[in-house]
Amino acid sequence: MANKRDYYEILNVEKTASADELKKAYRKLALKYHPDRNAGNKGAEDKFKEANEAYSVLSDAQKRSQYDQFGHAGAQQGGFGGGGPAGGFSDVFGDIFEEFFGGQGPQGGSRAQRGNDLRYNLSVSFEEALLGKEEKIKLRRPEQCSTCDGTGAKAGATKRCVTCNGAGQVRFQQGFFTVSRTCSACRGAGAIIADPCKKCKGQGYIEREKTLSVRIPPGVDSGTRLRVNGEGEIGPNGGPAGDLYVVLSVGDHPEFARDGDHILYEASISFVKAALGATIEVPTIKGETPLKIPAGTQDGRIFRLKGLGFPSIRGYGIGDQVVKIRLTIPTKLSGEEREALEKYAKASGEAVHSESGTILEKVKHLFD
Ligand SMILES: [Zn+2]
Ligand SMILES: [Zn+2]
Repeated sequence: MANKRDYYEILNVEKTASADELKKAYRKLALKYHPDRNAGNKGAEDKFKEANEAYSVLSDAQKRSQYDQFGHAGAQQGGFGGGGPAGGFSDVFGDIFEEFFGGQGPQGGSRAQRGNDLRYNLSVSFEEALLGKEEKIKLRRPEQCSTCDGTGAKAGATKRCVTCNGAGQVRFQQGFFTVSRTCSACRGAGAIIADPCKKCKGQGYIEREKTLSVRIPPGVDSGTRLRVNGEGEIGPNGGPAGDLYVVLSVGDHPEFARDGDHILYEASISFVKAALGATIEVPTIKGETPLKIPAGTQDGRIFRLKGLGFPSIRGYGIGDQVVKIRLTIPTKLSGEEREALEKYAKASGEAVHSESGTILEKVKHLFD
């Protein structure tokens, strides 16, 4: 998916093109490059997919404005959801398929349907979510049988269905209404297979394992859905393929937590540093960075390291690293340390349990 072309350029329209102009431009390309008209032509197939993708984004006002602002990075993200052009494929394909099959040929009038969307769960590490990566995924899914071009029949071995006369639908009278129903003899295909294709056993598709390269943009989070256009299941009766949704889950990090685009980190420092002030080294995604702790810093105080969080996949800049200070109290004291602290306690007039002094001295001290 590297070096993607501009969607407007693909459809050969101006950036200001109206919805109608977009639709016209897309129909022209879809008709020219449709796989049914370019059997086995990989170049045409790619052009067809490209046009599909461009149109599915530009035909949706919201996606279009996001694409206008953020380009492909904006248009590829999971937040978009949904599949296919605004108004559904049938809006555009309904009339395209009429032009293709217009009542003639073995599939005359049969219903082309969009294939099912597929879901693929993918785990990435915290670092990969931060930096983005190119991931190869393997999936098994039905693909059109190349031996019979998806018809399920040996070459020339389909016969027009006599029950529906090739329409794929039968009409019948029910009271005052004419009702049409999918033809049960040919299951809507409009044709009967006289001699099934040996390779796919007459199904028209074969389960295949395919390796796809998916670009994971920086800033993804658990639950982000990436849509890969046209990589879902093939559509019945020559319909367009569904989309593939890659649903991400992001792993934990030993030191950092995450809150949206912000990275959270707890820095433990001694109460002495907090009282006197110090500069500490804080781990960040870009290595250690010094952080100045002013004298008198309290437990729970927050410091922000600007721009050291996750990039927003919606293009809203970069998050921060949020450092929360935790004060540590020593659990063991050397004799010298204890003396120093007792001195401090005396200086600030605090009563403490003393192990070096006698109880009497302590009591006396209270009444001084
Ligand atoms: Zn076959
Ligand atoms: Zn039939």
